[in-house]
Amino acid sequence: MVAFLSANMESGTSYPSLSPISHTGSMTRNSAMETSNPPTAPGPILRLPRAVYEGLRAHGEETYPHECCGVLLGHPTPDGWRVEKAVRAVNARTDAAHNRYSIAPADLVKIEMEARRSKLDIAGFYHSHPDHPAHWSATDLAEAHWFGCSYVITQVAKGMAKATCSFLLMGKTETDKRFEAQALKIDSDPSA
Ligand SMILES: [Zn+2]
Repeated sequence: MVAFLSANMESGTSYPSLSPISHTGSMTRNSAMETSNPPTAPGPILRLPRAVYEGLRAHGEETYPHECCGVLLGHPTPDGWRVEKAVRAVNARTDAAHNRYSIAPADLVKIEMEARRSKLDIAGFYHSHPDHPAHWSATDLAEAHWFGCSYVITQVAKGMAKATCSFLLMGKTETDKRFEAQALKIDSDPSA
């Protein structure tokens, strides 16, 4: 499996836009996405600078055989989130760190404050799957609560980062929420 890079992505096709979302007050989001987004269409694109992409993959290799986790900070754009940086978090799940992750609430508050200071929003979260595919698990969905955010998963096989995939948390409530695979776009040189 290779990194999730959709061929359509390069063709200039336009996708339904992801409206700016603030998580500071409420978990509301624009419902236009569901009505205009056919099930087979890729969701909005997640753009990552190459250094961030390599960094989160390296994080998964470093914590192997445990799961790593972290937060993606960025800006909403008409195409989807554009990540500026990733902040590493400590996996608070000491009981089952090989197949679970959890960011301590205090850690998350600190990261949110850092985001606000840098005028960035929480665009999503990343974690690794040691010796498991880069696909969300039932637990990942159950524990995902940030609607409109991207959840990036890297498969780490025998200590080596393999596929990295991203899933957008869709829906409005805990009962109708779901993950949709989305295209990852890696920006080679953010300064270009
Ligand atoms: Zn997972």
